[in-house]
Amino acid sequence: MNSKIRRHMIATVTKRVLGLPFRKKVKDIWRLNQAESEALQRDIFLKMLKHARTNVPYYLANASSYPACEDTEHWRSFLQSLPILSKGTLRDANEQFVSKKRPLGTTFHTTSGTTGTPLKLWVSPLERAFADAIVFDWYRRIAHTKRYPPQISLSGFMTPSEDSSQLYWSAFGGRSIFLNMYALKEDHRDEICRILARYRKAMLYGYPSALAELARVVGDSLRDVKDRFVAVTSAEVLRPQYRESIESNLCSRVYDQYGSQEGCHLALECEAGNMHVHPLIGIVEILNGRDKPCNDGEMGRVIATGLLKRTMPLIRYELGDFVVAREGTCCCGLSWPLIGAIAGRDEDLVVTSDGRRVGHLDTVSTKHLNGIAESQLIQKAYDRFVYRIVMLPGARENSDLVASNERRIAEQLRRRLGYDLLVCFQYVDAIPREGGRSKFKAIVVEVEG
Ligand SMILES: [Zn+2]
Repeated sequence: MNSKIRRHMIATVTKRVLGLPFRKKVKDIWRLNQAESEALQRDIFLKMLKHARTNVPYYLANASSYPACEDTEHWRSFLQSLPILSKGTLRDANEQFVSKKRPLGTTFHTTSGTTGTPLKLWVSPLERAFADAIVFDWYRRIAHTKRYPPQISLSGFMTPSEDSSQLYWSAFGGRSIFLNMYALKEDHRDEICRILARYRKAMLYGYPSALAELARVVGDSLRDVKDRFVAVTSAEVLRPQYRESIESNLCSRVYDQYGSQEGCHLALECEAGNMHVHPLIGIVEILNGRDKPCNDGEMGRVIATGLLKRTMPLIRYELGDFVVAREGTCCCGLSWPLIGAIAGRDEDLVVTSDGRRVGHLDTVSTKHLNGIAESQLIQKAYDRFVYRIVMLPGARENSDLVASNERRIAEQLRRRLGYDLLVCFQYVDAIPREGGRSKFKAIVVEVEG
């Protein structure tokens, strides 16, 4: 067993033991009606605000901007009157956001962002355990298991290194395995299928791009056993074509999970396919360019107020993500607030000359096209793009197909952006993964927005 797995096992056992007292609370939260969930959030928020005003240097130093909430009945409009906290402020005054009352064992992790100085994010052992209890309660529900389901992970956090010959790492006697992200190749298909087929029920977890790659590699080899699995995707936008290939080859159902490293919000996909914001982790607002709440169906910036992390309270923190606002109730019966489609990080949105941000351009422009295995759109200027394309075996030689694809892509981009532009196509064997955690970027924007 390697030291990374050993540390993972110790951390997991610690979280599970410390998380035991939270189990009931975490289970009960699914049954709350809207009024109960609103009242619960109000109470936690007011306590968090009081704590921040008393124990956290940044809020103490800016006391006039963070007054006490006198009219608790209208706590939401009070919250909306507080300043928006930018990532820049959190970065510049990083240590000032850490509570003076720090429980024993509080540690920090740093963000893995590819740009700028990493942020230090502090978290106490109990906060880790609480968050762990919340997500595992959800995993248990979607996998229809009494205990935590066995987990097969495919993410850059824990994976054998690129030059390793190991196909996977195993923990807890195989109840948790970490597949090698770099070994998703046809040569390993049979062995990967053998590993997966050992499980009677399990959850696959990973980046959508990595799970889609696994789905491509296994093809239809798992058709007889795939319904034993559900998949949870996180950390990247779950594109429709990824969902389709993961569900057709790997599992009965994909559920998306949308959170952030800052830990101040979490949205989970329900049976009806909608994203619900978990009331115990945070409050999500979606705002337009004038800092006003977006209307139903409008895309806006995500502002999150953390309710779980007292070690580092973040009030109205701008995550840098864009999401569609969604009002109303869900037919699944869960009363938690809804959000609509997740467009992605601001860095994943194409910038137009008139200042608009447009998401999902890669999906729109390659929809219904044949022969494309994977692609990446790079914006060089408002009207200049490079499209990197990996063609399926044999398709590159079909010049009619290549020409008609190129025509369709350029046409779709022009239509979506509303102006003339140039697209240069590059055909490559693979799209390079970026950053330490090997995330796939479908869109790279090299223009200052
Ligand atoms: Zn729902």
